[in-house]
Formats: sequence, structure tokens, C-alpha cells
Amino acid sequence: MPEGDSIFRAARTLQRALAGRTVTRFESVFPRLTRVDDDAPIRGRTVERVEARGKHLLIWFSGDLVLRTHMRMHGSWHIYRPGERWMRPHSDMRIVVETGGMHAVAFNVPEAEFATAAALVRLQALRDLGPDLLGEQFAPADAVNRIAARAELDIADALLDQSALAGIGNVFKSEILFAGRINPFRKVRDIAGSDIERLVAIAVKFLRANVAPGAPGGIATYSARRTTGRNDPGARLWVYGRGGRPCRRCGTPVSRMKQGPHARPTYWCERCQPR
Ligand SMILES: [Zn+2]
Repeated sequence: MPEGDSIFRAARTLQRALAGRTVTRFESVFPRLTRVDDDAPIRGRTVERVEARGKHLLIWFSGDLVLRTHMRMHGSWHIYRPGERWMRPHSDMRIVVETGGMHAVAFNVPEAEFATAAALVRLQALRDLGPDLLGEQFAPADAVNRIAARAELDIADALLDQSALAGIGNVFKSEILFAGRINPFRKVRDIAGSDIERLVAIAVKFLRANVAPGAPGGIATYSARRTTGRNDPGARLWVYGRGGRPCRRCGTPVSRMKQGPHARPTYWCERCQPR
């Protein structure tokens, strides 16, 4: 499942592959994209840059046009050389941006639109984003204040709230709370400011470690995410996906429960993270 780290890596890979190149072909199954392409062709434009904002991926084309995609649960961007076999079925293809040397393909991206730079600034989904954990100007104090302001939420749901801070998804949510020894069901109002600061610091550490040069996982791979610092596939995460198995710290079986408005699974250790 894409989280801030995987979108960041995807943007970086696309940036390296596409930036400065001229588009030779554009294709999409979305009529709202092809309509724009019909009126103001993407072909012939230059890819100026590719960037991640929270879980949005933005591809900037010359001539004031930005392609915004959001991965939601199952979307991904891949890069292929011409003639290389796709790792996903053609039926999953949603968008293709082709330059002379590279094909960028979006699979199962549910949300995609073209916008001008000005329209992008007005876009509520981007305006609402909290400080981006992977942004160069990430302000921890702002993120801490925004979380603290969500006093009535469970801390796990507050961490997922992209308007509090952008980048954490369901995997990191459980991992950060385990590392911080905070029970996921505690209300934000019951958690000390210093503990929220600590959680934000852990979030920064985990996400940055997963986008560091040489970090595990390529553009197509979300499963290699790790928080334990270990490479062994069975030992990469502390609690996520480990319901019923022994806690890596204390041996207590890891708990699992659906949580929040979207009933996303949460994993935690009752002993290491008491209520
Ligand atoms: Zn434990």
C-alpha cells in the first residue's frame, strides 16, 4: 500500500527518468485526461519536474500543465524502457507518458487530473495537507500542534490524518506507535506534548530511512518497507501484519483490531503499549 515514502521514491525515480525530456506519446483510459490532451496535446511538451506532496504525485509539463495523481490503496507508477515487459497487466494501465528513452506507466491510479499551476494552488486536497514529513521544509512544531489540535481522535487516527501531517499510511501508523510505546487507542488529549513530539520525530526517522539512497524497494515494490533496521523479509517490521505472533520486544502476542472511520487494521502490543 503506498505511503509517503513510496510516493516520494516514485517521484524521485520519475524525476530522474523523465525530467528535461520531451513527451513523444501520451495515453490514458481517463476521458477527462484525454479531453485535455485533445485540446492541448501533451506530446511535444517537456517534463519539467516530478514531485511528491504527501500522497499526491505531480508531473509538471511545459506550457503550464500539471498532472496530479493520487495512489489511494492500489495505484502505482512504474518506469520501463521501450520494449520492456510490464510487471502489471495491460488492463491495469491508466496513464502512459512516453519519452524517447522511457515509458512511465500509472497502474490502477484512481484519481488523476490535469491542472494549471494556479488551479493546483486552489485545489482543496493539496491546500488541506499538513506539513509533509518528507518535505525539505518540514516543520515538526507545526505538525505537533496540528496533531494536538485533534484532541478527540485516537492517536492512531490522528497520525493518519493527512491534514495534520502528510505522509503516514496504515503501516507506518502502527510501527510509529509501537516504537513510541504509545497505545493506538489513546485519545490525543490524554497524550503529553512531549510524547507527540517524540512520535513525530520517529515518523520522520522511519519515513526518511525508507527513502534514503539505497533504501530497500524499487518503484514497483511497497513490500520492502522496514522499520526495524533489518533486511530479512520476516523481520522488517515491528508489529504491522504480525497479529497473534510474539512481540519482538516482550514476546506477548501482537494484537490486531480495526480502527477509525475507515476500519483500517491496527497492530500493537498490549504489554509494550499499555492503555
Ligand atoms: Zn511487547
